Amino acid sequence: MTTVAFIGLGHMGNPMAANLVKAGHKVLGFDLLPENLSVAQGNGVTIAANAEAAVGEADIVITMLPAGKHVLSVYESVAKGARSGALFIDSSTIDVDSAREAHEIAQKNGLLSVDAPVSGGIGGAAAGTLTFMVGGSTEAFLEAEPVLKHMGARIVHCGEAGNGQAAKICNNMILGISMIGVSEAFTLAEKLGLSHQALFDVASTSSGQCWSLTTYCPVPGPVPTSPANNDYKPGFAAALMLKDLRLSQEAAQSVGAATPLGAHAEEIYAQFGAAGNEATDFSGIINYLRDAKRQ
Ligand code: NAD
Repeated sequence: MTTVAFIGLGHMGNPMAANLVKAGHKVLGFDLLPENLSVAQGNGVTIAANAEAAVGEADIVITMLPAGKHVLSVYESVAKGARSGALFIDSSTIDVDSAREAHEIAQKNGLLSVDAPVSGGIGGAAAGTLTFMVGGSTEAFLEAEPVLKHMGARIVHCGEAGNGQAAKICNNMILGISMIGVSEAFTLAEKLGLSHQALFDVASTSSGQCWSLTTYCPVPGPVPTSPANNDYKPGFAAALMLKDLRLSQEAAQSVGAATPLGAHAEEIYAQFGAAGNEATDFSGIINYLRDAKRQ
């Protein structure tokens, strides 16, 4: 039985930790919010007094935190007290530079580490079907793979330190851009008198086909499971899409990559959020575009 310390028991961390308990691991958990600790306890997680206490006994340490600054502050405070050779897995979505800094902290303290952000959302976390995008050495990846398999369906080694985060933000930049593209096509079709179903039937089997259309269609009807059929309740909230687009643009800036559509998608989602839609599913962008005036 492996002992796992789980730091960050929020929307994603709690169901992920629960799956590790179900798989037979001893899980020591810590979060700053007492209500999240109660949920974890109900799922069979042993609550630690603080992050240091959880990590001291663990073979594997998993963090699922909001942003790079939280991950670095936890790594700084716990790495020294970790067991020699313990494996650190950061599954938060954070900027590539902070991810690489976290690896350096781990390495300096004689620890193995991977960045392993996820795709699949809260539903995937609960079902244990997340996709993990993993950056780190082959040795660290092979150590991480068995425990990640208890929380995910697909585990992809993307290369060295930070490459998991790189894969995550590149994927989500495609997603943000493609959702805006699909939404623009539906709003244009409406004005041209073309029905949603007719556009869907053509584009879903033609060159316009993509995930934002066929799995997550932003209009109600053609894909009954998409959030458009549930009043645009998330799903994947617009605030999280904006976070990932921002991370993609920070990364693009730091390496001098031209991503004009990524930058424009960030701007559009920033306006959508500022108009009071942060908690709306990101596919709700179609309603914002429908109301926008042509310049
Ligand atoms: P969340 O805000 O629900 O959970 C984060 C938790 O971290 C909170 O419970 C908070 O109290 C805790 N925390 C913050 N600082 C801490 C510290 N120093 N020590 C201990 N706990 C601390 O967020 P979430 O939705 O679970 O997302 C977590 C990460 O996963 C984020 O990076 C997010 O971008 C990423 N992500 C989220 C989704 C999603 O659908 N929610 C999908 C993919 C990736």
